[in-house]
Amino acid sequence: MNRGEITRDQLDTEIERALGHYVGIFAKLKDHIMRKVNGQISMLAREKLNVNAYAQLRAKKENELILSENWRTFLEGLEIEFPTEEDKKAVQEMSDSELMDNTQILIEASKITINDEEESTTLGERIHALYLLCHNELEKRFPSEWVKSDGFLDYLENREKRNRKARLLEETRVTGKICPHCESTNTIKCGNAFRCKTCGRYWRKKGYV
Ligand SMILES: [Zn+2]
Repeated sequence: MNRGEITRDQLDTEIERALGHYVGIFAKLKDHIMRKVNGQISMLAREKLNVNAYAQLRAKKENELILSENWRTFLEGLEIEFPTEEDKKAVQEMSDSELMDNTQILIEASKITINDEEESTTLGERIHALYLLCHNELEKRFPSEWVKSDGFLDYLENREKRNRKARLLEETRVTGKICPHCESTNTIKCGNAFRCKTCGRYWRKKGYV
């Protein structure tokens, strides 16, 4: 064995030990991910793979889980609070990759609250506060990187745009006063539809499909 190389059992021990560094919400997230990932890796794979392949398999399974789990529901089940002093300390002590994983989890949870228009509920605000805690730490560590963009605000702003478009279409299917495609007001009624004289496109009057 080369110096610095670790065995699979040592890797597992390291993962277990890493758990001890976290408290509160982040420990629970890590614990949940570990249990689920362990459940997805067969004993055979565990025995047969070398340590690098095993570590890679774990990382792949973790990434899949982070993107597929309903974290909003999971966090609600944990009855999360606004970030505590322990959470703040945990975030400062996380490795870069743990921090990125947790930021991703919280942005996934936030997306669900934004889609369901519950970002202003107690749960939504607590999830957002935890997200900001991670996001601010990311910004501190990587000041000139992609983390400048606030995923929560971006997603929220996009929802406003999506909703605005939907409201415009709904309204203009009644009045026909504004084109839902180019927003020109140079429109005319045309049987059961309206036509835009600027872009030339048609849209149906409400009640006619
Ligand atoms: Zn138009």
